[in-house]
Amino acid sequence: MYTTSKERMTEKITAFSKFGALEGGGITRLSLSAPALEARAEFKRRTEALGLTVVSDDIGNIYATLPGSDPDAKRIVVGSHADSVRSGGNYDGIYGVLSGLEVIETVVTDKIPHRHPLTVMIWTNEEGARFEPAMMSSGIVLGKFEKEKMLAVKETGGQTTFGEALRSSGWVGDAKNRLNKEEYLAYFEPHIEQGPVLEEQDLEIGVVGGVVGMVNYDIILDGVASHAGTTPQTYRKDALRAASKVITDLWEQLGAIDPELVFTMGEIFCKPNIHTIVPAQIKFSLDARHRDMGILDKVVSVIKGLPTEVLGCTLYYDEHWGRKTIEFDAQLLDFVEGATKELGYTYKRMYSGAGHDAQYVSELLPAVMIFIPSKDGLSHTTVEYSTPEQTWHGANVLLNAVLKADSAL
Ligand SMILES: [Zn+2]
Repeated sequence: MYTTSKERMTEKITAFSKFGALEGGGITRLSLSAPALEARAEFKRRTEALGLTVVSDDIGNIYATLPGSDPDAKRIVVGSHADSVRSGGNYDGIYGVLSGLEVIETVVTDKIPHRHPLTVMIWTNEEGARFEPAMMSSGIVLGKFEKEKMLAVKETGGQTTFGEALRSSGWVGDAKNRLNKEEYLAYFEPHIEQGPVLEEQDLEIGVVGGVVGMVNYDIILDGVASHAGTTPQTYRKDALRAASKVITDLWEQLGAIDPELVFTMGEIFCKPNIHTIVPAQIKFSLDARHRDMGILDKVVSVIKGLPTEVLGCTLYYDEHWGRKTIEFDAQLLDFVEGATKELGYTYKRMYSGAGHDAQYVSELLPAVMIFIPSKDGLSHTTVEYSTPEQTWHGANVLLNAVLKADSAL
């Protein structure tokens, strides 16, 4: 068993915390913003100092590679993102990059023999907080999004396009550098859990088997707008009243399907949204996630079984989008689980409830993720936190899993 350095791992987290630092803690490091470019420059400086070769592709994804003993061997890559949401934390995304960097630094410093080249990479714009959608660059590489369309996306609340930000970043490289199956062998993505399970169950590592499938619907209720003072209660067709009944019913019905089903009605629009008018229309979202697509089929049946009329209002729905459950590579999972066991860390196999670049990459290369606990299950907030011990343990699992892949693949 090899181990990384806890001191170095902690120093990396601390050092990168200053790029986009907010008063009182946390960061705002939107994709390709000035602080994000500072973080990229620091990544380049550190990887080059370790003797890695740094290149970027045509969408600014960065790849820093350490050669292995076999010049013909394919590369093993560790990746994640360095951008954050507005008022985000010091772990989401950047932990994957910095644990990868720490693993390579350990390999260099301790002269650990390895046959395959080892790459650590940064995906551009994973969060989608400045340029929508999320996971934009891995989506472009995997053909999910059209590059030209993405280059034309304007920043939220501004005029700069993704293409302009990319050009002025200085990180536009060659499209032939994109992650590909001819040159790359396997993809690892360490990440904070972003949920409470590991902490609640007092576990150190999440061995992530995949990303849960999800369905996303809009449910709409049409009533009649009428005057708040002159329309007696009995004559109203109040869309909000009807929606509140539907939401309560959905909670009961969906809550009875499966204890691991998670569902959220998190967005609601009221028309005309005036305090003296009976609501004419309510539209609300329903997001449901589970690793078993059969359970999600049951969710869809509940939605399709909703009455078309509720308290005098008309109910209908739109399917927004969905994704099937993504299964990560069984062999890489065994490497991660094996490394975790050998290191003596407590763990569980689990699925990610959130989307990550690894889910797109898994269609290109064998891929896997490693989770470390998130304090209070919180992420996308300035108080996001994992302890130095936890970040170090995750890096140790990554190191040994990568070395298992290096010798077995
Ligand atoms: Zn992330």
